[in-house]
Amino acid sequence: MVSFPHMNKINILENVRDILSAYLMPEDHKTSILEVDFDFLQSKGFTTLLIDIDNTLVERKYSFPEWKMKQLIDDLKTKKWTVVLLSNNRKLPRVLRIVDFLEVNCIYKALKPFPWVYKKIFKENFTEASKTICIGDQLFMDILGGNIVGCRTIYVDPLGAEESRFRIGYIWLERYLLKIFENVL
Ligand SMILES: [Mg+2]
Repeated sequence: MVSFPHMNKINILENVRDILSAYLMPEDHKTSILEVDFDFLQSKGFTTLLIDIDNTLVERKYSFPEWKMKQLIDDLKTKKWTVVLLSNNRKLPRVLRIVDFLEVNCIYKALKPFPWVYKKIFKENFTEASKTICIGDQLFMDILGGNIVGCRTIYVDPLGAEESRFRIGYIWLERYLLKIFENVL
């Protein structure tokens, strides 16, 4: 029988944790996008923001973002950030309503976390991953996608509670992983 004395149970668990954290761990975790220090990030050379829509800027059950989100986006544009909303949402009327209200560029049906859409955005906006920050409320979409292409990633707590069982379970898993990454467990 072949044995791997160096690969005990703890080693395996640590390796799994390393792999998961390499792709799913955000650089930063905030309770809301409103808590992000954009001036500091701009001073570090970041120029571009890829921001998720549902439960990051707008609660999934609401049609429009709150006014404070509109003010945030206006402020970012005034400060010369390149802002692109990046959503996997497939409902064009909802996305258009939000984009018209916020007056900002958007890509919907983005297929996060696959990397193609990010590369297209970098090319169209004359930017690159090292200058880009991805912000969103889902580890397996927003954070994984950003990490795969090499962007800085910021996880924000979802704005609203989820209603479907699948989404509730998904959020439980994300919270569990975040605790592992933040060494709470
Ligand atoms: Mg979202």
